[in-house]
Amino acid sequence: MTTAHLTIDLSAIASNWQALNRLTDCATAAVIKADAYGLGIEQVGPALAAAGARQFFVAATEEGAALRRVLGPGPEILILSGHMDGDAPLLQQADLVPMINSVDQLLTQVEALPGHHFGVQLDSGMNRLGMEPAEWAALRDIAEAQDLRLVMSHLACADEPDHPMNAAQLASFQEMVQGVQAPLSLAATGGILLGRDYHFDLTRPGVGLYGGLPFVDAAPVVTLDLPVIQIRDVEPGETVGYGNTFVAQRPTRIATVAAGYADGLIRAMGGSATVTCDGQKLPVVGRVSMDMLTIDVTALNHAPAQLQLLGQHQSVDTVAGFAGTIGYEILTSLGARYNRTYIG
Ligand SMILES: *Cc1c(COP(=O)(O)O)cnc(C)c1O
Repeated sequence: MTTAHLTIDLSAIASNWQALNRLTDCATAAVIKADAYGLGIEQVGPALAAAGARQFFVAATEEGAALRRVLGPGPEILILSGHMDGDAPLLQQADLVPMINSVDQLLTQVEALPGHHFGVQLDSGMNRLGMEPAEWAALRDIAEAQDLRLVMSHLACADEPDHPMNAAQLASFQEMVQGVQAPLSLAATGGILLGRDYHFDLTRPGVGLYGGLPFVDAAPVVTLDLPVIQIRDVEPGETVGYGNTFVAQRPTRIATVAAGYADGLIRAMGGSATVTCDGQKLPVVGRVSMDMLTIDVTALNHAPAQLQLLGQHQSVDTVAGFAGTIGYEILTSLGARYNRTYIG
């Protein structure tokens, strides 16, 4: 077995959902777009439903239809991109709730699916998705006369608690939803941690479920073990890998492990990354190859069978730091080639 081993702890995902749920007095949904942040809707969806989640957000209608097949009837599945041309049959068949983002989408919705439930997404300042205040003011009566399931907005800077954008977006949202009877939602993982003013009726955590920041108390969810293919000793002055970027300064023992940028171990992490062996940190040396990494294992007094990139000693955010990116990107880049095991 030379493919790397990804272990996904479903009970950690369930306990992260429960911990985030306990931080509020309102309902807690689960965001499982992008195949549950790369971890697999077929396993993650049922685990979250069993933990108590009753509302699930995905990005696209096709994702929603796939999730409906996994979850069966009952849970509410909401589509963040709203109602795009051609979506009507799937929205209806799979009983999905599009989050309507614009005047055009509302027209498409009421023409193509009269009487079908929907939600509305408002733009409170992020300028990515959602109706502007003026659009909403013009359409609000029409929307509220329908089967309106949720009115929501999204925070741009919720991972920075002191950022003035949070209060500005909160004020904008509060003004737009004054008097609205439908349930309201503003907070994702970061918003939950900003406190009760941000909670409204429903929160929408994603990354915190999967062990990522800003939920610092999250239980680790993913473990990635990389099998060692070969170990060699190199002499001072010898180089390792493409471009000769690593030159041994002393007798060095190099382990070559089976995972590279084709498995989502982005090449940019090369210079500063470490892996661990029983908690001991070992530097990645030389460039990340498509299918391999090279590690300086001189500090070990045994020949390891595998080395760990992600797990209790290095979180997705630690690894994101090596590459100058965020935990979200590490999770959603996790390779299709891994041998996956679900536990819990
Ligand atoms: C992705 C997303 C979420 C979840 O955000 P996290 O930061 O992963 O908790 C919630 N709401 C919207 C609109 C999103 O796009």
